[in-house]
Amino acid sequence: MSVLVVGSIALDTVKTPVEEHADLLGGSASYAALGASFFSPVKLVGVVGDDFPAGEFEFWNSHQIDHAGVQRVAGKTFRWSGEYAWDLNTRVTRSVALNVFEHFRPDLPPSYRESEFVLLANIAPALQAHVLDQMSRPKFIVADTMDLWIETARADLDALLPRVHLLILNDSEAREMTKETSLIKAGKKIRKSGPEYVAIKKGEHGALLFGPDEFFSCGAYPLEDIHDPTGAGDTFAGGVAGYLAARGAARPTFADLRKAIIYGSILASFNVEAFSLERLRTLTLDEISDRYEMFKLMSQIEVLS
Ligand code: AMP
Repeated sequence: MSVLVVGSIALDTVKTPVEEHADLLGGSASYAALGASFFSPVKLVGVVGDDFPAGEFEFWNSHQIDHAGVQRVAGKTFRWSGEYAWDLNTRVTRSVALNVFEHFRPDLPPSYRESEFVLLANIAPALQAHVLDQMSRPKFIVADTMDLWIETARADLDALLPRVHLLILNDSEAREMTKETSLIKAGKKIRKSGPEYVAIKKGEHGALLFGPDEFFSCGAYPLEDIHDPTGAGDTFAGGVAGYLAARGAARPTFADLRKAIIYGSILASFNVEAFSLERLRTLTLDEISDRYEMFKLMSQIEVLS
């Protein structure tokens, strides 16, 4: 089953303590769509300007990413620039130029409206809601958000939450949203505001999953070399939504969600190994399976001799 992915499509400039690269393909939807495409066909919704590299459309074609929902308009593509500190965890935004993103209204092509699985990657919650308003029968809706919307569009975000089945956010966002220091309390509190499931990402420390009666915690894949953490969260969300769409069950079980979180973590672990989407461009299903086996081994407590 396919998954509809809406979010930002950007040209990023990223600086780490050792490298800087400009005009890289980025944006929440670019990462999320490619992440999801390892498991399911994707229907992508976004906007790009006339400076956007034409080759990306060919790349999407070759990765079962339908781009009929990507609007091409006159002007410049959204640009974002960020700089990482030595821990590669802390990041400051250096500049944002909304360009064609400023007047973006995600209007869906008719062929997208019946999608059953939806990933609302990070964009303004009012735009995420506008996408849902156009859909005839979405069965499972995953949403991602960021601190900016918690701080500037809280009412829109609160209105969206009861419409969402799984909310994904990171640890600092969960704390900011709930004013709780404990992530366990924060996860439970966010569930009460609407989503049946909540996933809290903890960067290199893994992720937590909260359901109606169950709880799951997984570590991150231990990596020696991280080059660019940009888009890790979006790739995680893409992997989660793509895996759930591939399973196809309108009501995924908690076991499905646990596996989805592991696959999301695996995709994120590959993504950070290179700048932009470069590592994901060459990633194979065999490499994903190998890391899945490693996850299984690492989470075994009693090793059979
Ligand atoms: P992440 O590292 O998961 O926070 O995602 C980084 C990506 O988000 C970059 O590729 C940016 O282009 C994109 N981005 C940054 N700010 C925004 C925003 N306000 N709305 C949507 N996407 C954004």
